[in-house]
Amino acid sequence: MTGKKENEEFGYDVFIKGNKCYRCEHEWTQREEDKPRICPKCKSPYWDKPKTKFNKGEKK
Ligand SMILES: [Zn+2]
Repeated sequence: MTGKKENEEFGYDVFIKGNKCYRCEHEWTQREEDKPRICPKCKSPYWDKPKTKFNKGEKK
């Protein structure tokens, strides 16, 4: 008997927080608990917000 726990969480996709930028679709992981203010790639402060549709005159 090893007494080793088998229910510990290891492996793929465990305890990983990921971010994805709405603007440039850049994906990254963060280690800080605080949410980053800007995307590290495109520097957009709106990386966590979906693109809003401002153009009312958009033709379909
Ligand atoms: Zn970005």
